[in-house]
Amino acid sequence: MSQEQVNLVVRGKTLIDGTGAEPISSGLVAVNGKSIVYVGPVAGAPEFPNAHVIDLPEATLLPGLIDMHTHPSYYWEEPDSGTYTDTSDNLKNYNPVTVALKASNYLYKALMSGVTTARDTGGLLGVMPEVRWAIQNGWIPGPKIYIACRLITPTGGHCHFLPNFSIQADGQDGFRRAVREERRAGADFIKLANNGADCTQEELDAAVDEAHRLGLKVVCHTGKPPSQSMAINAGVNTFEHGAPTREEIDLAVEKGITWTPTVTVISYYDKYYKKKLESANPDVVLSAKKELAESKEYKTRKRESISYALESGLKLAAGTDCWTSTWREQAMAIELRNLVEYGCSPMQAIQATTGWAAEAMNWDDIGTLAPGKLADLVAVNGDPLKDIEVMNQVSFVLREGVVVKDDSQK
Ligand SMILES: [Zn+2]
Repeated sequence: MSQEQVNLVVRGKTLIDGTGAEPISSGLVAVNGKSIVYVGPVAGAPEFPNAHVIDLPEATLLPGLIDMHTHPSYYWEEPDSGTYTDTSDNLKNYNPVTVALKASNYLYKALMSGVTTARDTGGLLGVMPEVRWAIQNGWIPGPKIYIACRLITPTGGHCHFLPNFSIQADGQDGFRRAVREERRAGADFIKLANNGADCTQEELDAAVDEAHRLGLKVVCHTGKPPSQSMAINAGVNTFEHGAPTREEIDLAVEKGITWTPTVTVISYYDKYYKKKLESANPDVVLSAKKELAESKEYKTRKRESISYALESGLKLAAGTDCWTSTWREQAMAIELRNLVEYGCSPMQAIQATTGWAAEAMNWDDIGTLAPGKLADLVAVNGDPLKDIEVMNQVSFVLREGVVVKDDSQK
């Protein structure tokens, strides 16, 4: 590769490469087509005579952000409407065209907030493969998406009430078949759901074995114990939510498994429980009080889990767990702020949405800024290591070498 071929150079005040290494002050990224060809300090960098130079003198350059837990095609009522669980009738009436449009809008906004790759951890059958195709073809702007298609749950298990968003399976053969069905439907990876012990260890083991045999990674929703232990024992690639114990964390580290804690989503549930407190039905109020007490205890355990996870070298992945009606502008920035609030250093929070996230899925072409990687790059105004809040000020987004946002030109 000659220096003449470099067509774009982006320079910033600071550069964070996503590996956890010390930031580079006055950093530069050089791009040829879709790929990064050079990363380093401006001082001492080679000349790139034909490059268009974008100077962002106040900005920090980072790898494109990865949202590891999204549901662009889920559509639930707003938590504060009080109808949170009463959705199965709405879902039955879904028009897939509407859902695809909503998903596209969600993904466009995610891209503009710096998310250049998103993992769709469960979506409406038939819709997300089309959305993925539309993005791949450049018909609509969006992050690169990896999709699970429907989530696989045992009969009556987590999210079984979401028709066409979940597939119910039973027994080892049933789980193997469900994995094959979702693969046929276009899944890039498999999403399993287990809350408590809704399914058996043998069922989870069979699903993971089948997915891995077919070359697909496995993501597992976990909730109440022993679902974390079960997922880790089954050898999933990432487990989602929850508050793993020290023993579970130790085992996950040993097995090279990543945890997606999804901190922000707790506040959506809290909002819903608080709404229920206003009910005229004393039983509803009683259950809301119990749920709020459990949520408080869960948050305490989650803080302990995150701090032990970081101490033990368990890698974390950042996931917003947003669906279309809980989508908020800057959802990833909010999750990163919450990860810091729960005990991550700003650098660790950044790794959770860059290097660690990519590593969990073996997405070797993204996640860090290095020669040979895809040119996915964002710039934020300010220094996120001093103040993680500035992650909500993404001023520049480069996706596979194409500038999709550049506020410096305004
Ligand atoms: Zn989810």
